Amino acid sequence: MIIQPKTRGFICTTAHPEGCAKQVQRQIDYVQAQPAIEGIQNVLVIGASTGYGLASRIVSSFAAGANTIGVYFDKAAEGARTASAGWYNSAAFEQAAEQAGVKSYSIVGDAFSDEIKAKTIDLIRTELGKIDLVVYSVASPRRTHPKTGESFASVIKPIGETYSNKTVNFHSGEVSTAVIEPATEDEIRQTIAVMGGEDWQMWIDELQKAGALSDNATTVAYSYIGPEITHAVYREGTIGKAKNDLEETAQRLNTQLAASGGRAYVSVNKALVTQSSSAIPVVPLYISALYKVMKEKGIHEGCIEQMYRLFSDRLYGKGETAVDERGLIRVDDWEMRPEVQAEVTQLWADLSTENVYELSDLEGYRREFFQLFGFETEGVDYEAEANPEVNIPNLR
Ligand code: NAD
Repeated sequence: MIIQPKTRGFICTTAHPEGCAKQVQRQIDYVQAQPAIEGIQNVLVIGASTGYGLASRIVSSFAAGANTIGVYFDKAAEGARTASAGWYNSAAFEQAAEQAGVKSYSIVGDAFSDEIKAKTIDLIRTELGKIDLVVYSVASPRRTHPKTGESFASVIKPIGETYSNKTVNFHSGEVSTAVIEPATEDEIRQTIAVMGGEDWQMWIDELQKAGALSDNATTVAYSYIGPEITHAVYREGTIGKAKNDLEETAQRLNTQLAASGGRAYVSVNKALVTQSSSAIPVVPLYISALYKVMKEKGIHEGCIEQMYRLFSDRLYGKGETAVDERGLIRVDDWEMRPEVQAEVTQLWADLSTENVYELSDLEGYRREFFQLFGFETEGVDYEAEANPEVNIPNLR
């Protein structure tokens, strides 16, 4: 079939297999051109098919030569519907891993469930033995609790007061004002249940209980802090409460793993175009302004550059892993440089529908958004027939 992008709100409901494969290959090429990383053999990535999780998996296999298990929630093609981008990404990743001689396995299902945890542990036992690094990179709008059966939905809302700020429709370029009412106590509780640390803790508990972690195992989850502009809706809002919970979980896990020489971290990453971040009001416009400033300064990074820096310079670099006063790894350090933030703040004040393409990199944002789904990618003929049915070589 001929596969074209179809959007509904901030999501794209189709994906292009060849385009996704090319995007994965571009990331592989990047890490293969960097110095190799030593010290990791077997990696489990939970939330491994897109964004930061996929980039972590690529760095693990193609910079460190590690075997990986990827857990993710994606759909195969069915009838007239294409597979999801994460499905095509994972298929391309596994094919490349096979050619490179590193093992890779996929488990597709709900990472929040007991069933998927048990299935993953069985796979570790039979194929890899023990895991040295667990990356937790799940971003989800909902979760069903495995013990109580309660279903939670996460919301992105301020707390206490109504928040309003500029936002952009990145398809049309229209800049308008987003007005978001404050969350209720129950919405805060539910957002923490989805995006906080409870599920990460459950994974590590189960892995430890099963003897599936090696001595000196590391685990890392991802967080975001960001600028003043987004604080009320992000860091001081519902999602920020969930991230506080994730960061407290890291401290607990660090103590828990220390007994066997292990460690747990939260890495604060840069704001980037991913399926999750495009759903947050205000953030796409901030990212467009940030991209403009960071590209002009020659310090722009995407997911793969961020994750290579996290692994090579922080987690597996020379000497102690550098952390801030709260124990957090900061690969958002370039984004948060005062001169970068000062320029973004200045642009922000002037941004409007009339000047958004000139003052910000909205065009770059829009293009990257479509590239997440394999579109607008160089070297792909989008008028040609494409087979949407693609197999993941080591799907369990
Ligand atoms: P993403 O949407 O690209 O990836 C999310 C991954 O989670 C996908 O692989 C998806 O399949 C998987 N997933 C979702 N629900 C699942 C479930 N129930 N079971 C198994 N897998 C499931 O998101 P991302 O932006 O890469 O976010 C990953 C982490 O990085 C999040 O914690 C996010 O807060 C953090 N982060 C993101 C940014 C950013 O700007 N994008 C910045 C800093 C930190």
